Amino acid sequence: MAHIIAQPCIGTKDTACVAVCPVDCIHPTKDETEKFAAEEMLYIDPDTCIDCGLCVDECPVSAIFPQEDLPAEWAEFIERNAAYYKK
Ligand code: SF4
Repeated sequence: MAHIIAQPCIGTKDTACVAVCPVDCIHPTKDETEKFAAEEMLYIDPDTCIDCGLCVDECPVSAIFPQEDLPAEWAEFIERNAAYYKK
């Protein structure tokens, strides 16, 4: 299991989550300038996330959920988050 970033992140990309993640598994960061500009949202690496939950309360648009609590209409974001790390 991992945490998932969903629809509200699109166009938001606040990055407050990036600053608190203890295992740096949220990308692209603002330091990854080209990737950050190219992506419409941020993604969590499911293989690295330790499910600590610290990112959830940092998100100003409540875009991050534990996978088991992800609203059903955003189920596609499980694969969208993972896909970013398979490129
Ligand atoms: Fe990082 Fe913890 Fe959020 Fe996973 S749950 S993305 S480890 S801050």
